[in-house]
Amino acid sequence: MTAPSEAAPSRPTPQVHGRTIDAQTRCVHYGDPSDIIALKFKCCGNFYPCYECHDEAVTHAIERWGDADLNEHAVLCGACSRQLTVAEYLGAARCPACDAEFNPGCKLHRDIYFDLPATLADDLTSPDRAECGTASAPHIP
Ligand SMILES: [Zn+2]
Ligand SMILES: [Zn+2]
Ligand SMILES: [Zn+2]
Repeated sequence: MTAPSEAAPSRPTPQVHGRTIDAQTRCVHYGDPSDIIALKFKCCGNFYPCYECHDEAVTHAIERWGDADLNEHAVLCGACSRQLTVAEYLGAARCPACDAEFNPGCKLHRDIYFDLPATLADDLTSPDRAECGTASAPHIP
């Protein structure tokens, strides 16, 4: 077992709200070449390129994804429109589908989007966890 066995049926590409500036979900706030992801927000279920776009568009507070949400397809790769689960995203430096590199700087903002223990996030991002079963995480189909 080396790779997640999830068959990836083509999920319909969600609409990305906010002030996007191109088709790869870059926005007026984060427009670097590697800023290619959009995130779904638990509070409203909508995708935004970044939390600033979210906060401009709505008045409610951000509700973050927790460790019960690791299987939520909450991250959209703007390059290939693949929707990643929270666990897939946190464990990946690049898109597992199209190999586009994610902005490592996004990790600085992880606490804005994810309410996860640092140890768990470290586990997910550690390379040698990739081949192990997920002992603590909910099962990944
Ligand atoms: Zn919201
Ligand atoms: Zn933005
Ligand atoms: Zn991709």
